[in-house]
Amino acid sequence: MSVSTAVPNARISNFYVPFLLILPTLAVFYGIYMAIMGQVSTFDVVLCLVLGAMTEFGVTFGYHRMTVHKSFVAQPWLKAIVLALGSMAFQGPVINWSSVHTKHHAMSDQPEDPHTPTIRGFFFAHFEWLLEMNSDKMNAIREKYAGRYLKDPMYLFFDRTFLFWSVFSLLFPAALGFLVAGWWGAWSAFIFGGLIRVFMTSHVTWCVNSVCHIAGGRMFNTTDKSRNNFLVGIFALGEGWHNNHHAFPSSAFHGLRWWQIDFTAYAVRVFEKLGIVRSVVRIPEAFLEKKLGQNVEV
Ligand SMILES: [Zn+2]
Ligand SMILES: [Zn+2]
Repeated sequence: MSVSTAVPNARISNFYVPFLLILPTLAVFYGIYMAIMGQVSTFDVVLCLVLGAMTEFGVTFGYHRMTVHKSFVAQPWLKAIVLALGSMAFQGPVINWSSVHTKHHAMSDQPEDPHTPTIRGFFFAHFEWLLEMNSDKMNAIREKYAGRYLKDPMYLFFDRTFLFWSVFSLLFPAALGFLVAGWWGAWSAFIFGGLIRVFMTSHVTWCVNSVCHIAGGRMFNTTDKSRNNFLVGIFALGEGWHNNHHAFPSSAFHGLRWWQIDFTAYAVRVFEKLGIVRSVVRIPEAFLEKKLGQNVEV
């Protein structure tokens, strides 16, 4: 029997299945029962939506555009906040997430792509790939793609403290619920602000991997099957403009037309005006137009 030499954070991927797939799904059924019984408060719903949006923003702004694609440079305190929020989304330690995503861009829609739907089907890309992502596989991906991230002390810190942030993201809503309505408030806030919120944000992010390589239009000719999907664009805070993203991975703006709603990009613009984000990557309009003129294979 071979002994796994995986680094601790690669081993964390073994815990994804119960915590990311099973428990939040069960919580959704329980939440429906609670709603039918009239046991859900406005506070629970607001907490679920606000924490959901904040942690999803941690993934889109922090993990994805800031860490992987270096689309801008954030002030250290802002960088720390968004990495904490991203870690609270339960999608894995920042260096695991970033290494897998780096590989996705390097191998898009080829057999080595960690989550391509065009070769292995919708459900594989949506979540089944996580079942295969055991510690040895994650370790191999980190060994090949984590180099740049391992050199940044803040990425290392949040990578190592991922479990703390994950548990905190479940206990924090429970604590708020307790303050508002005692023990029952703590329980219902844990279910809605904790587990159901994780269910919601996980599926939204997974839709970028699954839906956005199958359904939607293409503005640019890329070597992969990436697509722009309006609905995913709304829910994933702008990440649904995925064909644009594959065409210009480092662009801070995934929505490249005024009607392509991109909430993450709006935040980048505001933060840039406030001086807390700098070196924002913009694709020159002339270059965009040139790429637009090229035949798009659908
Ligand atoms: Zn993609
Ligand atoms: Zn990307």
